[in-house]
Amino acid sequence: MLHKILPVGPLQCNCSIVGDEQTREAMVIDPGDQVEDILHILREAKLQLKQIVITHAHIDHVGGAMKLKAATGAPILMNQSDYALVKMLDMQAAWVGMQPPGDVKIDEGIGDGRVLQIGEIAGNVIHTPGHTEGSICLHFPQQKKLIAGDTLFAGSIGRTDLPGGSMEKILRSLHTRVLALPDETQVTPGHGPQTTIGEERETNPFLQE
Ligand SMILES: [Zn+2]
Repeated sequence: MLHKILPVGPLQCNCSIVGDEQTREAMVIDPGDQVEDILHILREAKLQLKQIVITHAHIDHVGGAMKLKAATGAPILMNQSDYALVKMLDMQAAWVGMQPPGDVKIDEGIGDGRVLQIGEIAGNVIHTPGHTEGSICLHFPQQKKLIAGDTLFAGSIGRTDLPGGSMEKILRSLHTRVLALPDETQVTPGHGPQTTIGEERETNPFLQE
């Protein structure tokens, strides 16, 4: 599996470009900004974009989705529970000083247990409410990779003081779903450096009992 990580926008959201080497099909996760750079990577790697996946409806993760869809025709997928936040994107953009993205249209809801397929690669949707109600992680069990959105960071967890956030829920999601994954799982958080489940289980101060 090809996996390129591009930090985008003023908040440096980790945008993931995931591709199948055989079929050249790809998905882009969290195209928050810098769509031209994302398109350049897709072209260079000769990848055809099949799906745009949003881990949660914060502007830094979804800001470039409509532009990427317009350029590629790929549908935008997101958990249904974040649709209310999609309606607040222009307000969110103003808060962080980003361009308002205009009307963002979600093509398909993706719930817990949904499998997103590109070529031979299967990503399992794990619903992990807490940072937002509709936050998801995407787990690639064959490749031992987790795209964690803003649920888990190296040494920290997602903030829960924004609309739809809940400390109780994020801790439940982390303990019952995320830490249930094998220690060797490579984690790509929504911001900042890579980590592993084992590293976070052992050292993340928010995850100690
Ligand atoms: Zn974020």
